[in-house]
Amino acid sequence: MHATSPIRTTCPYCGVGCGVLATPTGPESALIQGDPEHPANYGRLCSKGSALGETLSLQTRLLYPQIGPRRVGWDEALDKVAGEFRRVIDTHGPEAVAFYVSGQLLTEDYYLANKLMKGYIGSANIDTNSRLCMSSTVAGQKRAFGEDVVPGCYEDLEQADLIVLVGSNAAWCHPVLFQRIVKAKQDRPGLKLVTIDPRRTATSESADLHLAIRPGSDVMLFNGLLNYLRQHDRLDFGFMEHLVGLSQALEAARDSAPSVPAVALACGVPETDLVRFYQEFARTEKTVTAWSQGVNQSSSGTDKVNAILNVHLATGRIGKPGMGPLSLTGQPNAMGGREVGGLANQLAAHLEIENPRHRAWVREFWNAPRMAEQPGLKAVELFQAIEQGRVKAVWIMATNPVVSLPDAAAVRRALAACEFVAVSDCEAETDLAAYAHVSLPAAAWGEKDGTVTNSERRISRQRAFLPLPGEAKPDGWIIAEVARRMGYAEGFDYAAPRDIFVEHARLSGLHNEGRRLFDIAGLAELDAAAYDVLPPIQWPVNAEHPAGTARLFAAGGFPGPEGKARLLPLPPQPPFNPPDLDYPLVLNTGRIRDQWHTMTRTGKAARLGHHLPEPYAELHPDDAARWEVADGALVRLESRHGSALARARITPDQQAGSVFMPMHWSDVQARRGLVNALVNPVVDPVSGEPESKHTPVRVGAY
Ligand code: SF4
Repeated sequence: MHATSPIRTTCPYCGVGCGVLATPTGPESALIQGDPEHPANYGRLCSKGSALGETLSLQTRLLYPQIGPRRVGWDEALDKVAGEFRRVIDTHGPEAVAFYVSGQLLTEDYYLANKLMKGYIGSANIDTNSRLCMSSTVAGQKRAFGEDVVPGCYEDLEQADLIVLVGSNAAWCHPVLFQRIVKAKQDRPGLKLVTIDPRRTATSESADLHLAIRPGSDVMLFNGLLNYLRQHDRLDFGFMEHLVGLSQALEAARDSAPSVPAVALACGVPETDLVRFYQEFARTEKTVTAWSQGVNQSSSGTDKVNAILNVHLATGRIGKPGMGPLSLTGQPNAMGGREVGGLANQLAAHLEIENPRHRAWVREFWNAPRMAEQPGLKAVELFQAIEQGRVKAVWIMATNPVVSLPDAAAVRRALAACEFVAVSDCEAETDLAAYAHVSLPAAAWGEKDGTVTNSERRISRQRAFLPLPGEAKPDGWIIAEVARRMGYAEGFDYAAPRDIFVEHARLSGLHNEGRRLFDIAGLAELDAAAYDVLPPIQWPVNAEHPAGTARLFAAGGFPGPEGKARLLPLPPQPPFNPPDLDYPLVLNTGRIRDQWHTMTRTGKAARLGHHLPEPYAELHPDDAARWEVADGALVRLESRHGSALARARITPDQQAGSVFMPMHWSDVQARRGLVNALVNPVVDPVSGEPESKHTPVRVGAY
């Protein structure tokens, strides 16, 4: 394990999925370099990735199993988890238990958690923090293409003549992809960048045009674009044989967004800027539209995704070099989780839980004693069900819902009331730890083996390069041990992560014959040595595409009925809770450049704390004057759900009437700096993703 030559692995932070070369320099340190051969980054790293070697300290790690505050052995802890789950299932049925997991899990761990819950416990109550970031894209792609598929690849960003970034501060949140965009612009000054975001950000500083749209008006903007393309005869008639629903989508676009002035007014942008964007889009065939949480985290997030997909389908700009829609995934393995069915409304391998034939296939493949028959509870409703006492035992893995879910006070109430809470985590001192009846020390990045899938469908290996500290164990081992103690030893007998991966690969090819694009049957025969050296590869990987697949859908071939894609009619919906006299400002939440999620890793690297060291609230100067807030003052933000403290930053980059606050700080790290104490628990009715970008708040002096 103490290798002196670098180990090839993958960054554990964002969905870019950069390749990393890690050379251990001690039990808690490593030299980190970008992997020049990894196609996601070709050697580049951002500030977070390059500081990974400074985040390996064991100082605050959870290193031993605990029952309450008492240190116990693994046997006692695992018996307790298995026993409590068995007790609740036997007394109240399988719907009374749940897993809440994470895009930080490796695909193999995710697969086992999903198999245990859906195939053995017999409930679909397993959801993931990917619900909070990507589920609107999952739902939108499923509606449009028939399957949750990203059509293109990162290289398209370098081959495009126009890149449109929607609801994405890529310069901070997907920095290496943004570096690739900036480099492409330097090499080809003709490449245009348009940013669409209520805020002016580090990303929009590099843009040729920035549209600071009114929060929530994205569907109106893209309906207007679809209507403009129709009016200017820019639809691709040759591609229409691959589509259904075009005329209805065009009609809805015409009705809701009849003219450029009407759209400009509704979106709050200058008409001249809107015309520039529409003209640029209309005349530039090689266009990539990439989006992130600004689109997804909305009560109409799925419609926003489909509004973007509508224009790319109607113009045939999909799956060809330099053109297509590109969802920028939040987490390193948000897509791997989707592949194994980690969301409560999915089965493994992109099979459908509502489909009896799919359920029967999976049941037979797993030799499952009790298959889930219906979708389970999605993240927000799952914690509401815990608070209501309908779910009585929950196992939380590799995520901290107290910090990351909306309406934090309700999440705390739910966990306090829950009969049994098991927590698998790397860190001991979190806001969640206080609610754990059993704490299970999980292996961290650099200590475990498996795979992740990034935003361009590329599967990459994460490899261990450090010894397991204390008594920490990989998540997959912990899940299999609990399964064994629940009486399911036969289904969870794996010697190594490779065994799980090849089972997952075999399942992806089951009854497939090209029906589902998530097909990695071409990797099902990997032996241990081949798995060990598996190079980054984009699915599908099968007999037809043994070396993987960069792009899909250029010539149709959609997984939906009759091989066609669907455009949707999309009447624009406003955000669920409008501001009012009591709460007149709109809170928007997001990430900052140098921190990741709840800062359990990035918080350990001192240099990452220098950029923005404390929770802050960005306000427009007009709002600051109106509410008598001075730059640098400590302010109190209040919503109908709670309050939080932050340092005021007054900037014209912030749209008047709105306030931005980052999502990273918990109460452990910065007392009362928790933004989700404020956020309303409103969700998209299709995807279940929370509206984290739009909560009415008020601001006042501390
Ligand atoms: Fe890691 Fe994302 Fe930075 Fe790449 S861009 S080094 S994956 S945080």
